[in-house]
Amino acid sequence: MASVRQHSFDVLIVGGGPAGMAASSTAAAHGHKVAIVDDNPSLGGQIWRGRSFSSASKRAADKTAAAWYRKVQNAQITHLSGLRVFDSAQAGVLLAESQDGPNSQYGQWELHYRKLILATGAQERFLPFPGWTLRNVLGAGALQSMVKSGLPVAGKRIVVAGSGPLLLAVAAYMRAHGAQVVEICEQASMGQLAAFAFGLLASPERILQGMQYKLQLLGTPYRTGCWPVAAYGTQRLETVVLSDGRRTREIPCDYFACGFHLVPNVELPALLGCHLKNGFVEVDPLQQTSVPDIYCVGEPTGIGGLEQALVEGEIAGLASTGRVEQAQPLQRERKKMQSFTERLEKAFALRPELRRLPDAQTIVCRCEDVTFSQVREYASWRAVKLHTRCGMGPCQGRICGTAGEFLLGWNANSVRPPILPVRFQTMAVAPAIQEIKSQNG
Ligand SMILES: Cc1cc2nc3c(=O)[nH]c(=O)nc-3n(C[C@H](O)[C@H](O)[C@H](O)COP(=O)(O)OP(=O)(O)OC[C@H]3O[C@@H](n4cnc5c(N)ncnc54)[C@H](O)[C@@H]3O)c2cc1C
Repeated sequence: MASVRQHSFDVLIVGGGPAGMAASSTAAAHGHKVAIVDDNPSLGGQIWRGRSFSSASKRAADKTAAAWYRKVQNAQITHLSGLRVFDSAQAGVLLAESQDGPNSQYGQWELHYRKLILATGAQERFLPFPGWTLRNVLGAGALQSMVKSGLPVAGKRIVVAGSGPLLLAVAAYMRAHGAQVVEICEQASMGQLAAFAFGLLASPERILQGMQYKLQLLGTPYRTGCWPVAAYGTQRLETVVLSDGRRTREIPCDYFACGFHLVPNVELPALLGCHLKNGFVEVDPLQQTSVPDIYCVGEPTGIGGLEQALVEGEIAGLASTGRVEQAQPLQRERKKMQSFTERLEKAFALRPELRRLPDAQTIVCRCEDVTFSQVREYASWRAVKLHTRCGMGPCQGRICGTAGEFLLGWNANSVRPPILPVRFQTMAVAPAIQEIKSQNG
C-alpha cells in the first residue's frame, strides 16, 4: 500500500500561478517556513508556465515576469510541484497526490499548515452548441496550452470565438506561431466594449496592451455581437457557423478555439467552508476569507487578470505573516484593480441568446454523454446529478456544471471530495485518511 508523507509549514500556498508566486515570495521574506504546491511540474500558472523571461527584454510584461521568478528563486520556499490537492483531512491539513513530475515517487501527501493561502486560479467557461464535441473544437486557452506543448499550427486556419480578453491573447499567440487566424468573434456588443474601453482611459498600461494586440492582429477581423451556433465535420471539424442574430455565416477552418470568459476555481475554498458570493470567494481587504487563517487571492476572488493576482498575492503574503501595516499601502492599488474587475465582468456579460445554443441532442455532459433534452427538465444541480449522472464523471461537473448555471440557472457550487480526479492507488489509502478524520471528530 502507498505511504502517506507528512509535512508541516507556517504558510502553505495552493496554486503556483502569479498570485501564488507573489504570496509565497512575500510570505517567505521573513524567515517563515513557506511551501507552494501546484499540480503542474513548473510554476507560472496559466499565463507564465512553460515560458522563459529575461529582465533584459524590452517588453514590460516580460520584465515583470522575470522579476517575480527571481523573487521566488531567491526566497526560502519549499516547491511542491506536481502535487494535486484533492481533499482536506481536518482543519489545518490538506491531502494531495503526486502527478507525473519531480515528486511523483512519493505517493500521497498530508500537508499541515498554520496559515493557508488559496491561489487556485480560473478555467475557461464552455457553453455547449451543436458540434462542440467534434475533434479540433477546443477551448481557446486549451489550444494555446497545446501549442505551448508543441502542437504545430503554422498555416492552419483558426477561428477564435466566445468572449473575453483571452480571445485576443490566444489569437495573437496563434498568429505568432504562424497560424492563419481567420477571424475573432466576440459575443459582447460594440456598445459594451466601447464603454469598457472608455473606462480604461485611467489605465494607460492596459491601453498599451490593447494596442499591442491590435498591432499583432493587424488584418484579422474582430467582430463584436457575434457568436458560434454550430460546428460541422465528419471525422473532425470542417466548418463553424457564426451568427450575429440576423444572419449566419459558415466558415471553413482547421481549429475552432472557443471559450466564454473565465470561471473561478472555487472547489477547494468551498470544500474548506469559505463563504462564496456570486460564485467568487468573499475576502476582506487583507484577503482573509470567512474561515480564520485561510486567505484567498487571484482569480477565485474575481476575474481581474495578472495585476490583480499579483497585488492580492502580496497582500496575503504580508497579512498571513503578521505584517498588516505593510499591506496597507497596497490597498489603493487593489481597489483600482477591483474596479477594473467589475468593469470587465460587465463588459463581457453573456447575452441571453447564448441560452439557446444547445439543441435537444447536444451533449451537455461530455464525461457521461448526457444530452440537453435529458437535463433541461431539472431545476437543480442535485436533481440533475441524481437522475441523469450529469456532472458525475471525471471532471466532476467543472464543465457542465458551469454551463448549466448559465443555461438553466443551476447552483453548481456544492462540492464533495475528491475535488479533482485522483488515482485508484490514492483511494487505496483512504482508510488512513478516514482514520485521520475520525480521530479528529
Ligand atoms: C486557460 C487559460 C489561459 C490563459 N491565458 C492567458 C494569456 O495568454 N494571457 C493573459 O494575460 N492571461 C491569460 N489567462 C488569465 C490569467 O491566468 C490570469 O490573468 C492570471 O494570471 C491568474 O493568475 P492566478 O495565479 O490567479 O491563477 P493561475 O495562473 O490560473 O494559477 C493557478 C494555479 O493553481 C493550480 N491549482 C489549482 N487548483 C489546484 C489544486 N487543487 N492542487 C494543486 N494545484 C492547483 C493550477 O494548476 C494553476 O497552476 C489565462 C487563463 C486561463 C484559464
